[in-house]
Amino acid sequence: MKDTLKHRGMRNKLANVLIGKGITNTKVLDAIRIIPRHLFMDSSFEVHAYQDKAFPIGADQTISQPYTVAFQTELLELKPNHKILEIGTGSGYQTAVLLQLKAKVFSIERQRELFKKTNLFFKKLGYRPKKVIFGDGYKGLPEEAPFDGIIVTAGAPEVPKPLMSQLKVGGRLVIPVGVDEQIMTLFVRKSATEFEKKEFGSFRFVPLLENKN
Ligand code: SAH
Repeated sequence: MKDTLKHRGMRNKLANVLIGKGITNTKVLDAIRIIPRHLFMDSSFEVHAYQDKAFPIGADQTISQPYTVAFQTELLELKPNHKILEIGTGSGYQTAVLLQLKAKVFSIERQRELFKKTNLFFKKLGYRPKKVIFGDGYKGLPEEAPFDGIIVTAGAPEVPKPLMSQLKVGGRLVIPVGVDEQIMTLFVRKSATEFEKKEFGSFRFVPLLENKN
């Protein structure tokens, strides 16, 4: 599959749809205009790639809806060189958006099949996250902590404690919390012991699954 002028035109339209839904961060909107989302999906979904919808990516998982990706990224308030942990690499589209905003990205995926596929895809397209890890995002990534931001792209029944403790003071955790439906939740670390919590609208994600072993 290639990236063509037609795809670019569709991405511009998608960015306008996101503006209509309230996304204002120009860098986030530019990332939506630049990243070829259709290449992150199965070719049979190509015609739908620039609709504001989630789609299946195999292993019972989905590529998040562009609005959700934009909304979560906006909440991170990224600055160049911010160290970001992403839980749920999935298709890699959210990772690519973070990279486009010049973040240093560490991403964890618990499905081996997706982990392998997306890793190869990053290499093929020249996306360079700092590290993609096959493992359980519930535990975070203590060896690389603390992070300026942590973004969880699966629905968490509860907020994993390690993620809170791996934030820098001033760092932001963006996490959809809930079982059937999730409330987008932002935690900003104010000090070693204090967090400010803000809640946003409801969203629907595939579940964040914990490895119990
Ligand atoms: N950001 C991705 C979203 C994929 S869906 C995209 O836009 O394509 C959520 C992903 O989280 C799935 O790939 C799923 O396998 C993964 N996931 C679920 N529980 C996890 C866990 N405990 N640790 C790491 N990844 C997890």
